[in-house]
Amino acid sequence: MATLRTVALPSGDKTVALGQGTWRMGEKGGDRKREVAALKLGLDLGLSLIDTAEMYGEGGAEEVVGEAVKGRRDEVFIVSKVYPQNASRRGVALACERSLKRLKTDRIDLYLLHWRGNEPLSETVAGFEALRAAGKIRHWGVSNFDAEDMEELFALPQGKACAANQVLYNLKHRGPEFDLLPWQAKRKIPLMAYSPLEIGALANRGETKRIAERHGVTTKQVALAWILRRPDAIVIPKASDPDHVRQNRAAIDLILTKQDLTELDTLSPPPSRKAPLSMI
Ligand code: NAP
Repeated sequence: MATLRTVALPSGDKTVALGQGTWRMGEKGGDRKREVAALKLGLDLGLSLIDTAEMYGEGGAEEVVGEAVKGRRDEVFIVSKVYPQNASRRGVALACERSLKRLKTDRIDLYLLHWRGNEPLSETVAGFEALRAAGKIRHWGVSNFDAEDMEELFALPQGKACAANQVLYNLKHRGPEFDLLPWQAKRKIPLMAYSPLEIGALANRGETKRIAERHGVTTKQVALAWILRRPDAIVIPKASDPDHVRQNRAAIDLILTKQDLTELDTLSPPPSRKAPLSMI
């Protein structure tokens, strides 16, 4: 099996550019077998980064991930997230212990603050750094942070140790291209693009369909390849359907042409001014 293209974190460690999301997994017991099987299939195909959170299924998704990585933990890069209300210095330590237990592992590869809440950022960073020193997490980062939030983070002692920012970025939501992504690129902080397939009506537009037809793929694969055109992007589609997992894996081999990209720019133009970061 060929290894997938990788993206470097600021530390120099690398992870695959295409991973697997888990939101809405672990919510219904009856779906668990199928969800575990989908994640395992993804791992077999090289989608070795799995993104989860204590929020998803209130811990249920982390349990699904724990089951999927059983016996193969070392080949997987696990990302999880702490609720903002748990993000005090002591709170992150306790939340991390609970996540490790559900994930049935001794470490999380990348631990993110899910979104900004009321806890001072300095407390969260101190908590993350303590977890890193203890070997419970390998890297930490943030999610749903706009450029001003990143500035604030970087002004803190140890704030520059942030390894990634996970935000809503897809063909329909190009806002981060205006200032956030250039800011991150300058500091070599990769983008983790969430909800990469949520492009709504754009999937049914003639332009998208024509591009998909030209390449013999689906419009969803075009949506993934469009994000994967960026060398700094880690893309994390969620799929419980095995056919979706296979299609997503194939999307990393799809290289969009200049003509495709121009057509997609016409359909969804890049931002010409600052807009607040959208969140799902
Ligand atoms: P998404 O991955 O863009 O879309 C998931 C939906 O698309 C599911 O209904 C899935 O169906 C379907 N799908 C997957 N592959 C497909 C394909 N090849 N063709 C057609 N449909 C396909 O949305 P998301 O789950 O919101 O985002 C992805 C991940 O990002 C999440 O799971 C989560 O890990 C993360 N996330 C993070 C945040 C944050 O605040 N940090 C917010 C949202 C999401 P099946 O399941 O039936 O296959």
